[in-house]
Amino acid sequence: MPVTTRVLNFSSGPAVLPVSVLEQAQRDLVSLPGVGMSILEISHRSKTFESILQKTDADIRHLAGVPAGYTLLFLQGGASTQFSMVPMNLLPPGGTADYVISGSWGEKAAKEARKVGNVHVAASSQATGFDRIPGEEELSFTPDAAYVHITSNNTIEGTQWKRLPAAAGIPLVSDASSDIFSQPIDVSSYGLIYAGAQKNLGPAGVTLVIVREDLLARSAKTLPTMLNYAVQAENASLYNTPPVFAIYVMGLVVEWLLANGGLPAMAARNERKAARLYAELDRTGFWRPTARPDSRSFMNVTFRLASEDLEKTFVKEATAEGLDGLKGHRSVGGMRASIYNAFPEDGVDALVAFMREFERRNG
Ligand code: PMP
Repeated sequence: MPVTTRVLNFSSGPAVLPVSVLEQAQRDLVSLPGVGMSILEISHRSKTFESILQKTDADIRHLAGVPAGYTLLFLQGGASTQFSMVPMNLLPPGGTADYVISGSWGEKAAKEARKVGNVHVAASSQATGFDRIPGEEELSFTPDAAYVHITSNNTIEGTQWKRLPAAAGIPLVSDASSDIFSQPIDVSSYGLIYAGAQKNLGPAGVTLVIVREDLLARSAKTLPTMLNYAVQAENASLYNTPPVFAIYVMGLVVEWLLANGGLPAMAARNERKAARLYAELDRTGFWRPTARPDSRSFMNVTFRLASEDLEKTFVKEATAEGLDGLKGHRSVGGMRASIYNAFPEDGVDALVAFMREFERRNG
């Protein structure tokens, strides 16, 4: 069935999904082949869902090269719930957790961790408006920290880690919500990775957690059951009813990633898209990209114009041209083009063409 008209969706999340995934979900919505019921209707204890969950788990392991000794969890409550679950499970009484704060989501993560225990800010780029990822020389880790938390991609500020911090021996925890599976990832460098699905992985409603199994021993029995990683792992994410539909769509997205060359191909495509957009932003002085060049995100490209009035005009005219979701986060203003995995390359070309035309008229 042909797709009805779609605008170019630059939203930061929930975000654009592959059209083929939407079409398959649509085809199967009334009756899953061979099942006779909708994915929206089947029991989470059914063989069908069990195999969807197992296949999604296996496909993610294949896609990202997840080594043995790591467990995948499919949880609810968004990445924001992980802000609390990480310290509740991994920060023992009297211990200290180190946070590198490179954006407002990292700040929120640290705020929740402070409710649980001691937090040491290993570095922060707040003084310069989170315009960059702190440099290696700025990082000061607690020698026996329980973990080091980073935000691999700062969705609001448009910055991204290019090289992981060297935190010898301390488990690294990464909020990868806005760049998960956008490039190859060495999972063995991490203690725990978490990501809300609604940017690169699927619809809102499921959060992927990849955790090194030895860390599960830290989860105290006194934790609320649903917030206990060890319980979720023992029950294979089926302690209660998981977000069946969101997991099903995530499974389709992961199949799409595998069918389209996996993470190396995604990285090449994402780099091409970002390079095209940043080249345009740097071409004249008209546009004002906000992230420091060495920290620029390949997922969220943030920029400003000379005045807020001009920015408003840009967003309004872009929307009228079918370029949707370009308004920056309300906390920072300006513009943001989110160009996740499923965002098409010719969509970036369309934005660049529109920007040229806008500059011609307003420059
Ligand atoms: N971390 C990052 C990096 C994000 O971009 C977001 C959402 N935009 C969150 C956390 C919060 O995610 P959720 O809405 O799933 O709680």
